[in-house]
Amino acid sequence: MSGTFVGMPAFPKAAHEAVRDTTLRGNLRHATHTIRAKRAKAVAEVSDWAELREAGRRIKDHTLRHLDRYLVQLEESVTAAGGTVHWAADADEANRIVADLVRATGETEVVKVKSMATQEIGLNEALRAEGVHAYETDLAELIVQLGDDRPSHILVPAIHRNRGEIRDIFRSEMGEWGRPAPEGLTDTPAELAEAARLHLREKFLRAKVGVSGANFMVAETGTLVVVESEGNGRMCLTLPETLISVVGIEKIVPTWRDLEVFLQTLPRSSTAERMNPYTSTWTGTADGDGPRTFHLVLLDNGRTDTLADEVGRQALRCIRCSACLNVCPVYERAGGHAYGSVYPGPIGAILSPQLRGTQSEIDASLPYASSLCGACYEVCPVAIDIPEVLVHLRERVAQGGVVTQRGAKVMLKPAKGHTAERAAMRAARWALGSPGALRAGQRIASRSRRFHPRTLPGPGRAWSASRDLPPVPAEPFRDWWQRTHGGQGTGK
Ligand code: SF4
Repeated sequence: MSGTFVGMPAFPKAAHEAVRDTTLRGNLRHATHTIRAKRAKAVAEVSDWAELREAGRRIKDHTLRHLDRYLVQLEESVTAAGGTVHWAADADEANRIVADLVRATGETEVVKVKSMATQEIGLNEALRAEGVHAYETDLAELIVQLGDDRPSHILVPAIHRNRGEIRDIFRSEMGEWGRPAPEGLTDTPAELAEAARLHLREKFLRAKVGVSGANFMVAETGTLVVVESEGNGRMCLTLPETLISVVGIEKIVPTWRDLEVFLQTLPRSSTAERMNPYTSTWTGTADGDGPRTFHLVLLDNGRTDTLADEVGRQALRCIRCSACLNVCPVYERAGGHAYGSVYPGPIGAILSPQLRGTQSEIDASLPYASSLCGACYEVCPVAIDIPEVLVHLRERVAQGGVVTQRGAKVMLKPAKGHTAERAAMRAARWALGSPGALRAGQRIASRSRRFHPRTLPGPGRAWSASRDLPPVPAEPFRDWWQRTHGGQGTGK
């Protein structure tokens, strides 16, 4: 498997392959259900969760509305604290800046903190082309890197792997990258974590350059913030002599007071923790403490285009907690790779087509990678109305057409199913507008329920092949109500 998403097929094709992988579905189901249950419990502990969510939404919207001002303030604060700020319009420019900075140090390897921004721009591959090895130090990212794999989840990039697969990857690959896995390594979590710890430690102690992203940047002081659970980030942020942080321009918050809101909502939404085990903050450089040189690369890469879209811009509120992935029925079945981007799941379905445009087949297919059930919106700690943006992007795709992988531009035609859908909707409108007919139809359906097919015929067969049709109740609701409540409230 390639380590990049380049050349991925459109979502329906990739998802079709993925849903046939029963191991993948089992791994995903187990992991997402476990995380979502823990998150729900952690959120329920907070009595003012709704207010926190609303505060997060407002802070992000305010910041995005005045992003120009806050970015300038951030640059001034970082510079005053001894850091250097670089501006990158796109992935190529960001990669060039980082490669030049690393080359200027004379080093050929860097240690990395888990970072979505550097994955988005393909930094590891760009550095490799310049003869620089980038070592991932987050446990899940390490598994992905050693396995020459692709991340499939924002927070748990190796969520598609089970413990046995991870043990096999460690046994066969660790020796190629540095310290090999211990003899007789088993798949117990403690042994796997210890193997990773020993493997990474020599890299932490040797590396002179660290590369990170950031969860937040505080404009008023120029402080960057990374939250994590393993402590690998703290090692990368403090031990190297040079630190280079690549951060999307939307990661700004105006003040420390604003940060307080997100330091409550992010850990509970992502890892279901009351606070993150490690919260690292740094402001420029300080003598005798941490890196001596600090560079901040501010990344646009499609963000100002996204900001220009009144409906779509809310995607820039995202704090990458991944709660929306863990509740999404489509993600749970298709897995993260099918989204063809480092941003999978519901947020990926609205973010990737905005950052990259909707011209390609894969990006044009993403707004349709959803049943619009709304579970993502319910859990989002910054209240991004993902279904609203999905529908908006579908409109854009339908109006703008798609450029195929061979370079041809095609306009989308209504799918074959649309005629049947229109007919079904017409029938539903007639039935719902004729109460007598509806009641008679419900009674017939209940009495004939034993003869109902388990799957749909014709074009509906594919839909019902992977779903159970809901059983028709033995008694229609109206009859049950009439029997138990004597007709009160049924409109009779
Ligand atoms: S869209 Fe919302 S729920 Fe999904 S990752 Fe972003 S902040 Fe979290």
